Order: sequence, then structure tokens, then C-alpha cells
Amino acid sequence: MKDLKKRIRNIPDFPIKGIQFKDITTLLSDAAAFQQAIDLMAHRHFHKGVEAVVGIEARGFVMGAAMAYKLGVGVILVRKAGKLPYRTVAAEYALEYGKDKLEMHEDAIRPGMKVIVADDVLATGGTVSAVVDLLKRLEADIIECAFLAELTDLKGRKKLKGQKVFSLLKFKE
Ligand code: AMP
Repeated sequence: MKDLKKRIRNIPDFPIKGIQFKDITTLLSDAAAFQQAIDLMAHRHFHKGVEAVVGIEARGFVMGAAMAYKLGVGVILVRKAGKLPYRTVAAEYALEYGKDKLEMHEDAIRPGMKVIVADDVLATGGTVSAVVDLLKRLEADIIECAFLAELTDLKGRKKLKGQKVFSLLKFKE
């Protein structure tokens, strides 16, 4: 696992001063590291009845699609506002400065559908909380929120009370 952590590049002060940006592109472009990371994230859910993986734009699409393929299930996209063509449900969430909005197609989930939510990094937890909100409104059965990396000092888990949270790699900040 130590090796996988080393495949993630830390970029200080990006996109603004004070942020330690976890650049996962260095892990994604390393075939063995990418494969190992996806296997470790997906294997835990083999034969557990997962029906879809929900990926959050944009890096969550990479994690989510690869996990879904491994599990032999579909992938559902959560997108930034205005990108999805059919009727949508939307949730607003707070950013460090201002607000943003995420959307899903209103028919993407059947009530009771067992899903995993996937993203690259759990930071403050605002983004994934908005997705959990949307999924609850659509009556999904959320098996787990799964992340490649978690920034533990930012305490994103606190915002996800009542949800199972898994992160493969942990960083303090
Ligand atoms: P948050 O809503 O604070 O949990 O932020 C989560 C989203 O922002 C994820 O989709 C990440 O891709 C991105 N993100 C936030 N902080 C970082 C960071 N320090 N390094 C890389 N990505 C981050």
C-alpha cells in the first residue's frame, strides 16, 4: 500500500494557497498501480449484490467506471449542473468559496437499488454528502462511499454520518 501512496503526487498551493492537491494522474497512468488500486477497491464487493457504481464528475468517473467494470455492473454519472440531457434531480453544496450544484438523471436509480458511490478524494465531504442526498431522494440503498484517497485532517467522514465510508489510502492533509 505504501507504493500506491507514492504514486500520488502532492502539489502544494494548488489551486489556491494552502491546499495540498493530491494529483492522482500519476497513479492512473501507471498500469500496475491503477489495476491494483481498482482491484482493492472493487474486490471487497464481489458477490454482495451491488447493482451499480455511482461516479462523481470528473475523477470519480475514472474510479467509478473501472470499479463497475470489475464488478460487472453499470455505472451511473453524477454531473455538474447543466450537463445531463434528460430530466434531472439536483443538489446544491457548499464549496470553500460559494456554492456548486450536482445533478443525476431522475430515472437513474430504481428504489432499493444497491449502489456504491465512488470518487477520487474525500476532503471536507461536501461533494459526496450532496450525492448521498440525491441518492436518498431517489431511494437508493447506499452500500458504501468509496475513495481512492482520504484527507483525514479535513474530517469529511463526519459529514457522512450513517454511511459506510472506505478509503484505500489515507493522508493527513
Ligand atoms: P470535498 O467536497 O471537500 O470532499 O472535495 C471533494 C472533491 O474535490 C473531490 O471530488 C476531489 O476530487 C476534490 N478535492 C478536494 N480537495 C482535494 C485535494 N486536496 N486534492 C485533490 N482533490 C481534491
